[in-house]
Amino acid sequence: MSDDFDLDLFVIGGGSGGVRAARIAAGYGARVAVAEEFRYGGTCVIRGCVPKKLMVLASRFTDDFADAAGYGWSVGETAFDWPTLIANKDKEIARLEGVYRGNLEKAGVRVLDGRAVLEGPHAVRLLSTGEVFRARHILIAVGARPSLEPMIPGGELGITSNEIFDLKEQPKRILVVGGGYIGVEFAGIFAGLGSTVTMSLRGDKLLRGFDEELRDRLGAAYERKGVALKFGTTLERLERDADGAVAATYADGSRGTYDQVLVATGRKPNTADLGLETTGVALDDGGAIVVDGYSRTLCPSIWAVGDVTNRAALTPVAIREGHAFADTVFGDKPTMVDHEIIPTAVFSTPEIGTVGCSETLARQRAGEVVIYKTAFRSMRATLSGRDDPVFMKLVVDKTSDVVMGVHLFGRDAAEMIQLAGIAVMMGATKADFDRTIAVHPTAAEELVTMRTPHVEVKKGTSAG
Ligand code: FAD
Repeated sequence: MSDDFDLDLFVIGGGSGGVRAARIAAGYGARVAVAEEFRYGGTCVIRGCVPKKLMVLASRFTDDFADAAGYGWSVGETAFDWPTLIANKDKEIARLEGVYRGNLEKAGVRVLDGRAVLEGPHAVRLLSTGEVFRARHILIAVGARPSLEPMIPGGELGITSNEIFDLKEQPKRILVVGGGYIGVEFAGIFAGLGSTVTMSLRGDKLLRGFDEELRDRLGAAYERKGVALKFGTTLERLERDADGAVAATYADGSRGTYDQVLVATGRKPNTADLGLETTGVALDDGGAIVVDGYSRTLCPSIWAVGDVTNRAALTPVAIREGHAFADTVFGDKPTMVDHEIIPTAVFSTPEIGTVGCSETLARQRAGEVVIYKTAFRSMRATLSGRDDPVFMKLVVDKTSDVVMGVHLFGRDAAEMIQLAGIAVMMGATKADFDRTIAVHPTAAEELVTMRTPHVEVKKGTSAG
């Protein structure tokens, strides 16, 4: 490539999307540098998926200890130590951060520390040194940050998912504001670890956008766990009381006192003060970078992937977009990412796994839809006596027999949905599911043994 430029690619942001793009581009022979202002690995590794899942795993031992009794075990007295969990989690995160940095170096990428800002369509300044790099292409992979908005009086007393991973003490009483997947997951974590948990949300159910039955079942399961669900409420103000706790006043006049208030109401793309005005890159109303199917912005030399584009804010999506960008620009393989079918999980306890259309969406899209569903007690629950039924639903297009959606609720739903996702991606029909031999005895076998349609729905009608 021409040497008018210092680099073929400058990547801003060392998270999921940026790191993948940098490594793949370098593998194609491009001269690549990446800048990270915080810690390599980005949100997923440092303060997202990975530490969150470790905390989810920690929280599930409570049920495991209780369930063991039915199998003849006497577990004895148990105790949980928050500082031990946090210290061990930090060690693992530091190890992973090192792996990310090491992999970039091994790929021949120049690894820079510090904030980078744009100074034109081909120029990036590294603020830590003042150095300006001229790059043929620039990839913006700066992710998103939690937002405390809309700000209420005392709103600064709330914390976000960024701070929750580093709390010195486990909150005995926690209020989680917001019913999206991050709020739901932290509510499950703290309930499992023995905190008293309240969730407050504007809507009337958890997890907007998910299949309605999953939403209903999760709400019921959380109530059984003792999570207090305040639906249809907004917070009016937060105040620090004399004991150092946070007193919350809700719009309906009710009040509550908590040791921590976790605000999980949304995330904002990191596009402020990035120098975008020097480039012609356009933003949408939510502040996300507007890109085409190849992740190209309105400025031809600048591309953007991951959460900053707000297409589907998930790690594997950012990675796929970063990879596709590198293939397109440096590998001579123009590649678009299909955002239509994305298997995903919510690490609530019980867990959710979902891929494809919800029943509601399928009814809007397909002519006629057939619903297969089952709710049953898992084998594990027979001896433990746990009252958490597993639920599975298949949404099938009646005309083509194609499985449009799979929705799972219960233990290991995330593991199961990854595999069901392959079938849905391939366009499997219900007949394909039926002719797959069951694995016995498992919960997953129910996915291939649902024979009787629960309900057939004509377009635009509601399920019975
Ligand atoms: P990021 O990973 O956020 O990386 C962006 C990086 O850019 C950051 O490291 C940031 O410090 C850096 N940066 C920003 N501005 C600059 C600048 N100007 N100069 C230099 N560096 C800069 N997804 C899942 O798939 N599964 C999950 O279970 C899951 N759980 C989550 C739990 C939580 C609590 C959160 C917050 C997110 C979770 N996500 C999960 C989402 C996932 O973390 C993101 O979708 C993913 O990290 C996006 O990758 P990215 O590369 O776009 O951005």
